[in-house]
Amino acid sequence: MPAPFLPLTRPTIDDETIAGVAEVLRSGWITSGPKVKELEAKLSAHCGGRPVRAFNSGTCTMEIALRIAGVGAGHEVITTPLSWVATSNVILAVGARPRFVEIDPVTRNIDLEKIGAAITPATRAILPVDLAGLPVDRDRLYAIARHHGLRVVEDAAQSFGSNWRGRAIGAAGDFVSFSFHPNKNITTIEGGALVLNDEREAKLAEQYRLQGVVRTGFDGMEVEVVGGKFNLTDVAARVGLGQLPHLESFNARRRELARAYFEALDQPALRALGLELPPADFSQTNWHMFQVVLPGERLAIPRAVVMEKLHAAGIGTGVHYPAIHLFAVYRRLGWNPGDLPVAERVGRDILTLPLFPAMTEADVARVAASLQTILLAHRKA
Ligand SMILES: *Cc1c(COP(=O)(O)O)cnc(C)c1O
Repeated sequence: MPAPFLPLTRPTIDDETIAGVAEVLRSGWITSGPKVKELEAKLSAHCGGRPVRAFNSGTCTMEIALRIAGVGAGHEVITTPLSWVATSNVILAVGARPRFVEIDPVTRNIDLEKIGAAITPATRAILPVDLAGLPVDRDRLYAIARHHGLRVVEDAAQSFGSNWRGRAIGAAGDFVSFSFHPNKNITTIEGGALVLNDEREAKLAEQYRLQGVVRTGFDGMEVEVVGGKFNLTDVAARVGLGQLPHLESFNARRRELARAYFEALDQPALRALGLELPPADFSQTNWHMFQVVLPGERLAIPRAVVMEKLHAAGIGTGVHYPAIHLFAVYRRLGWNPGDLPVAERVGRDILTLPLFPAMTEADVARVAASLQTILLAHRKA
């Protein structure tokens, strides 16, 4: 009998959480309320006591951070081309322009060495991404930001539970944005959180979160900024409260499975073929994803066919991500193929393998064996 289909990822929701959600649903208060406040307090504790506000996506937290920082028309924001397109869409959403900087082929994160040359008088902020949970070097990042007087919006959508030199991502820095989409290491179904610097910023974030409204007394209402509709529900917050206690164990399990991937894939035949593995970081990353870069030039089949063959073998995979600057919206802004060759190559050949806490070592072995068989059978002559 063939093994059941192994998805790319799958959330783990325990029975206590499901019962807790039912309780919220029966409570008479299901939208933003006490559960959101409780989740924010717990997230703040995780982030060294900094102010944290919860939202209904990770995307809106970055847009709101840019608005609070005063980034808008005529401004540029430095970011990575290898991310979920939300990272740069929010820059366009506030009326600014993304300035994509080449990635480091080893970490696959923005190449900090190359940021300096991309800074212009219009630059206001840097928006780096911790791809797959591997943290960007925070010491160098903030040295650059301080030197040039730039704000930072950390797209830490994938790095909740990662740390930089032992300090939780979110516990230091400028704005830090998290996502709790079901594919992330913990989930609120949809949702996100923004870590801010002080109560003034937190109050502004609350305004942007809900139509800009500020209430006073029983009947007072004022609107000073154009906000949106970005509030998290108590139902979703209750899911998050049930996830948080498992953060450490989920991430420990991801680490074990990542180690198993290294054992299975770090071997002569695949090394000779040029398969690229991620950095073997077992102290700082939360192993949000395990991504390989295929040796595209040396294979007779494209990535899509590798994925199709893995799918036929009962294994789900994903692409995170094609280079953003090659999407039509960004080409219309003047970006062209060849502008960022490393990001383009990685974007063409990167492949995300299944990794989630409920997986087994046998699953990892099956994925690695299938991948190896497919790659070796389709080497270019
Ligand atoms: C998931 C993700 C986002 C967006 O988060 P949503 O909660 O889906 O809005 C942004 N950036 C990166 C790198 C992500 O992985």
